[in-house]
Amino acid sequence: MRYLVISDIHGNFPAMQTVLHDAPAFDAIWCLGDLVGYGPNPNQCIQQLQEFPHICVAGNHDWGVIGRADVFVFNHAARQALQWTQRELSLESRQYLAELSTTVSVEDYLLVHGSPREPIWEYLLDSEHAAVNFMDMDFRVALVGHTHIPIVFEWVEETQSAQILLPDWQTPLSLEGRRLIINPGSVGQPRDGNPHAAYAILDTEMQTFEFRRVPYPVEITQERMRARGLPVRLIDRLEMGR
Ligand code: ZN
Repeated sequence: MRYLVISDIHGNFPAMQTVLHDAPAFDAIWCLGDLVGYGPNPNQCIQQLQEFPHICVAGNHDWGVIGRADVFVFNHAARQALQWTQRELSLESRQYLAELSTTVSVEDYLLVHGSPREPIWEYLLDSEHAAVNFMDMDFRVALVGHTHIPIVFEWVEETQSAQILLPDWQTPLSLEGRRLIINPGSVGQPRDGNPHAAYAILDTEMQTFEFRRVPYPVEITQERMRARGLPVRLIDRLEMGR
């Protein structure tokens, strides 16, 4: 099977559409949470995802918008966007988000938003935190989002530690015989200094993971955010990828 792996769409429908057009053939979508929050088109993103065979797990913003997480744990701009999203969200979208699991396993792949041990909240940004997850939790390949930064952590048995591998945009990563935590990056709000939408293709037969990047019309998303009165800081950051 070939999966389109996406995360942190955050209501950015132009970015999501661009990814769907750019992606090579796939059988189903695996979405790692944060469908909403920040962006101008939460309902459209949820509807679009439902048109494909897919699995989606819940993210912290998905929980924030349905009231399962306190909006006051989010920073000011994120909270304003969440409160706007709460008003905007249709009943169907709200129900869809409310039914999302925090953790899904498919064969030896684990899908979570944050981390295997803290699926909603933990940010995996360094090898120390990744190592604890490899030691405490039983999985072979975990797919995570949440940080909006494409990255790979690999478990090194000899040293009982995790090492960081930066994504190779030219060559698919081989997954064979390795324990890994992989973040495909964010579709709708990249934070690694590159504003292009990030996504990946996972081929479970070939055992490969291909990181991909595609430019999308950022200005269309920004225009829609302005029209909806979303915070300026969130509008500006999209073109910087920060
Ligand atoms: Zn996010």
